[in-house]
Amino acid sequence: MTSDTLFTKIIKHDIHADILFQDERVTAFRDINPQAPTHILIIPNKEIPTVNDISDEDESVLGYLFVVAKKLAGQENIDKDGYRLLVNCGKHAGQEVFHLHMHLFGGKPLGRMVQLEDSF
Ligand code: AMP
Repeated sequence: MTSDTLFTKIIKHDIHADILFQDERVTAFRDINPQAPTHILIIPNKEIPTVNDISDEDESVLGYLFVVAKKLAGQENIDKDGYRLLVNCGKHAGQEVFHLHMHLFGGKPLGRMVQLEDSF
């Protein structure tokens, strides 16, 4: 009996994804439903469900997500024009997969961070 998340199955190559980078700490692959010309997910190999579940020992791998994101942005040639890094946490952010992941969006102007019509 396994409780692997969808993304853990991708890390283990049990299901297919377009993996762009993988080492012992982090895996990065193209989003299956891209919302920009470049849309990559960068994830810790360790299963951390949400940002709320981060512990002190995760600090290093979480910083490393940015290092990998920067390298991938260069490879995708979106570093000069700019890009967006985004991490959703929980219901109000619309998190769908409960394995912490950083989105890397780029390749076009990305608009506002939060929709204008959102009132609070
Ligand atoms: P979030 O809403 O932040 O949880 O983002 C989850 C992302 O995972 C979405 O952008 C989905 O399109 C993406 N996704 C779901 N299943 C897969 C898959 N099998 N391969 C690649 N990306 C996926």
